[in-house]
Amino acid sequence: MVLNYSDTLYFKDIYGWDGYNGSRDEKIEEIKTRIREYPDFPKPGITFRDVFPLFHHPSLQHTIVELLKGQIDEKYSNRKIDMIVGIDSRGFLFGPELANALGCNFIPARKKGKLPGATVTQSYQLEYGSDTLEMQKEYVVAGKCAIIVDDLIATGGTMAAAYNLLTNSGVEVLECQCLVELPELHGRDKLPKQCPVFCLVEYGGC
Ligand code: AMP
Repeated sequence: MVLNYSDTLYFKDIYGWDGYNGSRDEKIEEIKTRIREYPDFPKPGITFRDVFPLFHHPSLQHTIVELLKGQIDEKYSNRKIDMIVGIDSRGFLFGPELANALGCNFIPARKKGKLPGATVTQSYQLEYGSDTLEMQKEYVVAGKCAIIVDDLIATGGTMAAAYNLLTNSGVEVLECQCLVELPELHGRDKLPKQCPVFCLVEYGGC
């Protein structure tokens, strides 16, 4: 028997899943209140937004995937999505479940030196120095269609590197999704206009 996503929710219900009920806005508010802020971490002037507390609650994990999937279904119902690309490392927290819900593959984009086999790479600038994202070459196939996910978009350098890595190899990126956006840093401006950025919650400051 093949289960679709709503079947799996039904099974969670009958086996005691504590689903989070509420309107879309209430769900987003609940997510926002669970993300913890740590001023001056990892260095003075930066407010670190810690998404890990969201993953203490199975019902909220489901809510995150439901909200992200809902927006994909609404906008791309006529498209076949081949892969969710999750950025190292917090894109791995919810990317696999989102891919599972959509019925497509989850593929990681990792920091340099973590993936075996032939890879394709993309370097990008940080405030001081640079960093590199890598993906296994066999999955980065021209003509495939991807959505990229990460926990947070700040300056947009990381997301733009993942976007460039994929599109330079001929993969179409339909959208980038994050749990958190820091709009004052204008990260979405690093991505081309044809690639929408969707974020569940936003915070002022950096
Ligand atoms: P950026 O390339 O500037 O958009 O930075 C995004 C990446 O850095 C994401 O993978 C985040 O996990 C991490 N990051 C940047 N700023 C923060 C922050 N204020 N709180 C938590 N993570 C951050």
